[in-house]
Amino acid sequence: MYMSKHINQLLRCIKSIGSNSMFLSFCVFLSNSEPINAQAATNKAIKILLITSGCCHNYPFQTKAMNDAMNKIAPKATWTVMSEGGTTTRGTIALYDNPDWGKNYDVIVHNECFADTKDSEYFRKITKAHYAGIPAVVIHCAMHTYRAAEENDWREFLGVTSKRHDEKQAKYPVTLVEAKHTILKGMPNNWVTRSDELYIIDKFWPNSKALASAVSEVDGKSYPIAWTNQYGKARVFGTTFGHSTGTFSDPIFLTMVSRGILWAAGAIK
Ligand SMILES: [Zn+2]
Repeated sequence: MYMSKHINQLLRCIKSIGSNSMFLSFCVFLSNSEPINAQAATNKAIKILLITSGCCHNYPFQTKAMNDAMNKIAPKATWTVMSEGGTTTRGTIALYDNPDWGKNYDVIVHNECFADTKDSEYFRKITKAHYAGIPAVVIHCAMHTYRAAEENDWREFLGVTSKRHDEKQAKYPVTLVEAKHTILKGMPNNWVTRSDELYIIDKFWPNSKALASAVSEVDGKSYPIAWTNQYGKARVFGTTFGHSTGTFSDPIFLTMVSRGILWAAGAIK
């Protein structure tokens, strides 16, 4: 089967990058060898750069899950997977040293997790490119990446400020705040997540709009778990869920992320 071969190739590539983080490496995969199914959301050949590395999560599993999910609704999407910086909270990614690091892509998916990297000169290489107009999707630990930094550039880019989460993972009932938004198309209004971490949002930035929310089991307050943001000329979609393999096995979550990617890239309305 093409898909299983394709996935194995993807996992091998991530593994090879992980074993040699000194090299800037890319894995490029086309998802367009399968016929478009009836549920395809777009036939556009959008180019996605996924940056996925750092602490605390199963990034090869998450990458495979997102690739599979996207293939169902955007069969011509092209994925480039960048996994660099190691598995600690203090990594950096050499890709960002190139001022044009994002220019060949329609959307960047940030799924990296480097909470203790705090050099503003470093992360402004990322935010500057987005502010100029490169769309982005930010997932889970991207919200706690650069958490130790004093400057707020990264948080303004995300659209939220978060520095902690409910101590225990739980299955959270989700309230749809903007049920008619295209990103949430097809999403049930009684979605309960798989076991995951709820991030506490300390600040919701002015250009952000909440799409869905969930209530903390610790303080009883409601926090956005999915939102859109406008950062300079760039569209941003974010979700704070995405910790567990359970979540990345949940078709509701995966469809939301896939549609968020397409929306940010301007591929669906
Ligand atoms: Zn996590």
